[in-house]
Amino acid sequence: MIPPLHPIADAIRQHTRFLVTSHVNPDGDAIGSMLAMYWVLRTLDKEVVLFNESGLPRRFDWVIGGEAISSTLPDTKPEIIIVLDCGDIRRPGELLQPWLATLPIINLDHHLGNPHFGTYNWVDQRIAATGEMVGMIARVFGIPFSGPLGEALYLALTADTGDFCYNNTRPQTLEMAAEILRQGLQAGPFYERKLATGTLNQLRMRGEVLQNAQIFAGGRICLFRFTQELFHRTGTTAEDTEGLVNEGLTIRGVDVAVSLREDGHRIKFSLRSKGETNVQYIAAQFGGGGHRNAAGGAIPTANMDDALRLIVEAITAALEVPCNTTVFSS
Ligand code: 5GP
Ligand code: MN
Repeated sequence: MIPPLHPIADAIRQHTRFLVTSHVNPDGDAIGSMLAMYWVLRTLDKEVVLFNESGLPRRFDWVIGGEAISSTLPDTKPEIIIVLDCGDIRRPGELLQPWLATLPIINLDHHLGNPHFGTYNWVDQRIAATGEMVGMIARVFGIPFSGPLGEALYLALTADTGDFCYNNTRPQTLEMAAEILRQGLQAGPFYERKLATGTLNQLRMRGEVLQNAQIFAGGRICLFRFTQELFHRTGTTAEDTEGLVNEGLTIRGVDVAVSLREDGHRIKFSLRSKGETNVQYIAAQFGGGGHRNAAGGAIPTANMDDALRLIVEAITAALEVPCNTTVFSS
């Protein structure tokens, strides 16, 4: 068993009132690990508040218990905060910062460069999903992966492994998935619920972005752009961009796919890579972070072309001098 697991389980035993959070713009691992932790704590008769500054994205509105996730803070302070899937302490957003500065924190995460910002830390980049860590905690307490807990864990595992395709899929990941299926989750209906959450507008907008894909660095970089003009014209939002960046990696010879999205006074970027190419290293140069093959961040400019130049330069440099350094957040 991985050593930090038991101190974390003890910290859970010793407290009663929990606030559970994850990063802004939550993905399937953030939502799945929050809900899984919710079911674990509820089974242990704890008081739990689920907080995410962005709320529950629409594409997860089918997940059991999703309505428990609030985007406003409760009136009373919890005893302890569990921060899930956050590579640094700023990732949960601004609202929670005063409580994060004063209350004890359990930090459960699998990002590269997590600086162990918690009072209790369990950070392991080898683990496929933060949800997998929550599953291991459930096992310590003898809680079976049935019903809503199984669903939440499966959401987290499938999200961060690309439905068990990425290199982070380990035997242990599949063993946990097997345990969830044995407890009754049906893979087909789950996949259909997860898949059929889009709209025609979304499909058409994504088609237009694919149509306008650009290639740099002699075919090694594929770039997509999402502008506010595009969102307005097609009746879509930033949420509809989820995962599209991965399509860039389907091109033979592309090592890094990047998407840029206008977001107020900044340009948000998403990076994906194949094999040894470390995009966390690139994202960290702009104050972002992530994993070796999936990372993100924001560039403080409203100008798409400026952001494009900066990010393409940084990726090109990284491709020329392969670097496997992990950059730690402050
Ligand atoms: P995505 O590109 O899907 O938004 O994120 C890919 C990975 O990078 C995820 O693990 C996510 O947590 C991380 N990530 C995305 N944006 C940021 C950011 O602004 N800061 C940090 N530290 N990590 C990010
Ligand atoms: Mn994750």
